[in-house]
Amino acid sequence: MDSGILGVASGAVAASGFLAYAVGGRSSSIFGESYYHGDRNRPVLALTFDDGPSESTPKLLAALDKFHVSATFFMCGENIRRCPDVAREVAARGHELGNHTDSHPFLGFKSPRFIYEEMARAQQTIQETTGVTPRWFRAPYGARWFGVGQAQQALRLRGVMWTVIGRDWHWPAARVSERVLKHAANGGIICLHDGRTVQPEPDISATIEAVEYTVPRLQERGFEFLTLSQFLCPTN
Ligand SMILES: [Zn+2]
Repeated sequence: MDSGILGVASGAVAASGFLAYAVGGRSSSIFGESYYHGDRNRPVLALTFDDGPSESTPKLLAALDKFHVSATFFMCGENIRRCPDVAREVAARGHELGNHTDSHPFLGFKSPRFIYEEMARAQQTIQETTGVTPRWFRAPYGARWFGVGQAQQALRLRGVMWTVIGRDWHWPAARVSERVLKHAANGGIICLHDGRTVQPEPDISATIEAVEYTVPRLQERGFEFLTLSQFLCPTN
């Protein structure tokens, strides 16, 4: 057995493990500043929804209104251009808007220029359509890469991952709810979806059902739901 080859091989495994963490680890800030939880001493939660706005978002807004909950919506530029009225309605109901790129690409292995343009185009569409300038960015698939940090700085965005992701794009509502209820803790950021990348007319019934089941139970447990800005920057 050649220990030199073994050493090289184990180094490569360690490096690929490190890269996987850098790109997709929820606590990784290697490719740019990123948050994945808020104050762990306060009974507060941030509900966040990615991949909207969509034709299905209004039903979710009605569910959130029922429980008087404000959330943060990470929107894609392409979806906003398809559903501009829905984007404006989300903002009008008091929810916060975040940037989730323009066309929802996987950013790994892309050039810094491509990454900047995806983020800048979404930022511009959100501003032009809703009048809101987002301050939070969430990478599609949670995948960061070289250039994300610089683009965040240039666009004055801060990266946000999550404490718990509901897997609501392929799990039924009961399983999503169970996962969210199990992992909800002080300062938690919950990630769900009001769209499916940039597909029109997505079925988000599992998401809505999970929200209707989990939110009142979490409120009974004493949690308050805040937008990301209220949650991560309570002084502004
Ligand atoms: Zn997404």
